[in-house]
Amino acid sequence: MIESTFGFPSTSTGAILRREKESGSELGLRLHELTSKGQFAPDDIVIALALNWLDALASPGDAFVFDGFPRTLNQAEALDKILESRRLPLQLALHLELSRDEIERRVTNRRVCSVCRYSANIGWDIRSEDEPCPKCGGKLEHRADDSLAVLERRLEIYKNITEPLLSFYDKRGLLASVDVSIPKPKAMSQIADIIRPPHLAMFDR
Ligand SMILES: [Zn+2]
Repeated sequence: MIESTFGFPSTSTGAILRREKESGSELGLRLHELTSKGQFAPDDIVIALALNWLDALASPGDAFVFDGFPRTLNQAEALDKILESRRLPLQLALHLELSRDEIERRVTNRRVCSVCRYSANIGWDIRSEDEPCPKCGGKLEHRADDSLAVLERRLEIYKNITEPLLSFYDKRGLLASVDVSIPKPKAMSQIADIIRPPHLAMFDR
């Protein structure tokens, strides 16, 4: 959504990792084994793949968005170094907040398009799981790692290694939080308000 509203190129750690897995490379297979058990991919791999993505951008001096990266302090420090070396100071760290119950509901109701990778939620984007992808008509699938057991492990890891990032960015005045348990269009408009200039200028120091 940020990409379509503002024209910023964006990618997510999930998308980067999935591309690597689908390439069938040895690294991709190793990643699949880890993430299907609910573990996060190792920092060095995530950092290297994020850097590759950044290097491949047409105009890397312009704004861009990383979704789900960094997830650890190591990754955040590596990102700082990467951005420093390119004289692109980080302008905003956006924290999307969701209650435990809502996370569980969304994970169990999530279906992913087998063609375009659109992520649809039953009850929000589609009425039943028999419906096709609302974007392209492709077949929607339930991902094997969208299970409660995997979710439990992810939440535990999140608490231990990702949550400390909130104070890491808050101390530098870069953190903004949005409660995304409200309907999607409302949450999107709040996110747009935070990103849209002149708000962006607040972070542009
Ligand atoms: Zn689709």
